[in-house]
Parts: sequence; structure tokens; C-alpha cells
Amino acid sequence: MKVMKIAPLNSWMDIKERPLVIAGPCSAESEEQVYQIAKELVANGKVDAFRAGIWKPRTRPNTFEGVGLVGLPWMERVKKDFGIPITTEVANASHVELALKHNVDILWIGARTTVSPFAVQEIADALRGVDIPVMVKNPINLDLALWMGAIERFSAVGLDKLAAIHRGFSSAEKTKYRNKPYWAIPIELKRLMPELPIICDPSHIAGNRNLIGEVCQKAMDMNMDGVMVETHITPEKALSDAAQQVTPKMLHDIITHLQVRDAIGLND
Ligand code: PEP
Ligand code: MN
Repeated sequence: MKVMKIAPLNSWMDIKERPLVIAGPCSAESEEQVYQIAKELVANGKVDAFRAGIWKPRTRPNTFEGVGLVGLPWMERVKKDFGIPITTEVANASHVELALKHNVDILWIGARTTVSPFAVQEIADALRGVDIPVMVKNPINLDLALWMGAIERFSAVGLDKLAAIHRGFSSAEKTKYRNKPYWAIPIELKRLMPELPIICDPSHIAGNRNLIGEVCQKAMDMNMDGVMVETHITPEKALSDAAQQVTPKMLHDIITHLQVRDAIGLND
């Protein structure tokens, strides 16, 4: 296997201080919702990039599946008015084409896509010759090789602005978290791909807004580079992932209380 070339995080993300904070709603729901969330995030303090899901890969049908293409200009407005990079999930080549056309700065690959080498390869092929950062979430299931394989597919088409997002793993075991973190897995990924930035997604790990702070702190204790936190103006009314979203004010409190120090290792 060819050695992967990974660009440092600060070569594609203007991070003033650790951690990198990516925030925004699980889903873009309306132009007003997207704009107000971004406005409050910027007013409340640190946000390095704005996230919103445009196409939502829901586990069960007959739930909100995202606004689709119409939402991309809403995100472009955030980028223009607040001067922050925007990021969304892409799950096929057509999403890639539309996201690039609408000036999305960073793409991410969702947990339900990382599990499929065909889907990942299709997206990677659509990005051949394009210089854009791609963040790869871990697959839903606990499979480090599948996670690494997806990252390698993007590297193989020439992308080097890559990051991993740790969003926990589906487990039959009932825990207080929605997705079990299995912290040893991102630690092992870091050992095998030391240059690769790792961002924690406490929202999909916790599944509960009251646990976001402790998961963010754990990510910092593990020396992860950043956090991606789902943020909504009226979280309880969100059309997806209502239980885990925090308000911009709550996010600000969480971030200001974080103790950022060196890794202390893993114990669960
Ligand atoms: C999301 O970020 O809203 C999302 C769908 O996440 P995941 O792919 O981690 O389930
Ligand atoms: Mn979500």
C-alpha cells in the first residue's frame, strides 16, 4: 500500500485555538432556521465551520429525508454573510456535483455511506482532480478496516485534506449513549494513521443533549483535534435528531468549560 499523504489540519482550516469547532443543525430545515442558527453561533463565540445535512440518510423511511438541493443556497448565504466555511454530507456522485456547484467548502461522508466501498469509491471518483477537504465518519458498525479503507480510497484519488470523524458505533449492548464510543478504535486509527486529524462527533455518540459536554471533554482528554456538534435554535422541535441537539448558547458553555490538555489515554 502506498504511503498516504495527509495535509495538516491548519492548512485547510483556520483554527485559532484547539479544539476545532464545527457546529450547525443535524438538518437544514428552512432558510430562516439555517440563517438564525449560524447567526447565533457566530454571535456566541467559537465556530470554525458551519454544518447542515441537506440529504439525510435516515435509517427508517417515512421520516424527514432532508430538503435537498434547495438548501444549498441557504448554506451559501451563511458562508457569504458570516465568512465561515460550510460543510455537508454527500452520499453519491450527484450530491458531490451539486455541493461543488454551490461552493461547499468541506464534504463529509456519513456513517451509513462509509460502510459501502462501492458508494465510497463512486464519491472518490467524482472527486478525482478536485482539491477539497473530506471528513470520513466511522462506519456504523465497529470495523476499523472499513473506516481506513474509505479514507484510503479518497487518498488514492489524490485528496490529501482528509480527516476522520468518530461518531460512535452501533451496538446491541444498551448503554447510556446512543452509539457506543469504543474509544480504543479512534486511538488505534491514530496509531496507524498518525498524521490524520480526528474530530469527535459527540452528538451522534451521546444521542442526548445533556451528555454532549462530557463526550466533548473525553475527546479533548484523548487529544482529538476537534468536535462537530449538532446545534439548533429550538432543538426539541428539530426535524431530525431532536434529543441530541444543543442551542448555540449551550454549545458556547460547553466549549468554554472544556479543559484542553494532553492525552491521558483510554479507560473505556
Ligand atoms: C449527521 O451528521 O447528521 C448524520 C447523519 O450522522 P451519522 O452519519 O454519523 O449518523
Ligand atoms: Mn444528525
